[in-house]
Amino acid sequence: MSLDELVLLIQRLLDRAIRRLRLGRAPLPSGRRFVIVQIDGLSHAVFEQGLAEGRMPFLRHLLTRHGYRVEPMAVGLPSSTPAFQLSAMYGVRPDIPGFHYHDKRRRSDVYFPRGGDAAWVEQTQAAGRRGILDGGSAYGCVFTGGAVNNLWSFAMLKRPTARGVLRAFSAVVILAWVIVKATVLTVVELGRAVLRLVADPVGETRRGWKWLAIKIGVSVWVRQLFTLAVARDVYAGVPAIYVNYLDYDVLAHAYGPRHRRAMRSLRRVDRSIHQLWRTMRRVSEHRYDLYVLSDHGQLHCIPYVELEGRGLERVLIENFFAPAGAQIVSPEAPRGRRLARGIKATRSHRAPGMWQRFVNYLEHDFPRLMGELPEAREKDGVRVIGAGPNAFVYFLESVDGLELEWIDRRWPGLADEISRSRGIGFVLVRSAAGPVCITRGKRHRLDRNDGGPFAARPDRASVVTYVHDLMAMPSAGDLVIYGHDAPDGNVSYVAEIGAHAGPSSDELYTFVVCRREIELPRPITHPVELYPHFLEYRVA
Ligand SMILES: [Zn+2]
Repeated sequence: MSLDELVLLIQRLLDRAIRRLRLGRAPLPSGRRFVIVQIDGLSHAVFEQGLAEGRMPFLRHLLTRHGYRVEPMAVGLPSSTPAFQLSAMYGVRPDIPGFHYHDKRRRSDVYFPRGGDAAWVEQTQAAGRRGILDGGSAYGCVFTGGAVNNLWSFAMLKRPTARGVLRAFSAVVILAWVIVKATVLTVVELGRAVLRLVADPVGETRRGWKWLAIKIGVSVWVRQLFTLAVARDVYAGVPAIYVNYLDYDVLAHAYGPRHRRAMRSLRRVDRSIHQLWRTMRRVSEHRYDLYVLSDHGQLHCIPYVELEGRGLERVLIENFFAPAGAQIVSPEAPRGRRLARGIKATRSHRAPGMWQRFVNYLEHDFPRLMGELPEAREKDGVRVIGAGPNAFVYFLESVDGLELEWIDRRWPGLADEISRSRGIGFVLVRSAAGPVCITRGKRHRLDRNDGGPFAARPDRASVVTYVHDLMAMPSAGDLVIYGHDAPDGNVSYVAEIGAHAGPSSDELYTFVVCRREIELPRPITHPVELYPHFLEYRVA
């Protein structure tokens, strides 16, 4: 028996005692339950590479020895966690064009790491539907999916209810163990860092403390906490559990989707999945089905700021929308001050949902948590937001999405000009006849005769459908800019090496691992198709 298991046993006895006091509900005696493990940011292609390289021995074992299969899945546009999870959890086509966007009708940005934004989106877009996690648990997710337990609810400790206190108390054993174990592992990582510093002082100081903070924060603390919390739920028979492991996504953003540091994190995730599997087997009477899936992949990118020395939002506002001759380029604020401002902003938003914001920060771009605020600029009724390999331009004089015909009248030549500028792959615009895609000044209708930048792809028909879906979202920009296949390569408008939101195969195609007998739609062409499948567990 490992120490983890001993702790879980103590936890189980404690939970049983609490139940006997009729303080909680006994697990259902019949019916199947599910655990969804999301490996954030892992494309089908990199997943296969990881399996082939022996980085996920347990998942390979599941596939070869335990009758599991890999089902391919396309996630649609944008290829991003919030859009994926809202679709899968509620079965609705979301109005979430990116990780950061502007809502013209509400006159404010939606930026997922910011307090309240995810909750507001969930409240307004889930439209009263039953979430697949109704009565269950969610860890590391953007939305609750109806879950009653999510680490989000740690904020409840401040305003306790009797039930909440008991639940918190029953988690104390687990928490204490996570703290002990993760502290030991942190010390080990710090020790290793010191050794590396001795061996390679230049390389290590350049990578610096941010890398170490990412590794310790995500890999050690968060994953340990999630794994033990899920194991505890499995023992308790919680009917629906969704856990999102962020390790790979965070490292792929920082270093690129195939970088060895990102690839290496797959083994740690694999180990956690193995631990959960063993727990599920031990309480086989709970009849858990395990799903391992991914919400999107990542594309290797060049940060735009490395091409142009400043962000796209500044270049567009200053070069395209500033009155001629009045162009003022303000010098960069000193780094230290920006860092302090970032930390202050993070602090001032404390209170409820802090944990969730932390998770969302990790999902998007951990370095930003360390000092940078998001890429957004506004001038004279034009707002520009860089969100990843995608950026949005909003003309605020109308609350509705504006079409190319209007933009051509108001800003003649602008859309073509932007599409020709450096670091731009293509520009999407709505028009009376459907979305138009502009590449280097050439306008494409995206129909059977003119597939634009997607013409050579075997999957062009589905990509064009996804582009239609994206441009049908009311909150998508009046211009939607992508950095894919720009003359300098793939470009991201936030400072990151791995990026996602776009239509490349690496971003669009992921997978679901499940038991061979389980019936899923074939092919899975959008995450909304997962919703009825998981909802059925709740009805039967
Ligand atoms: Zn990500």
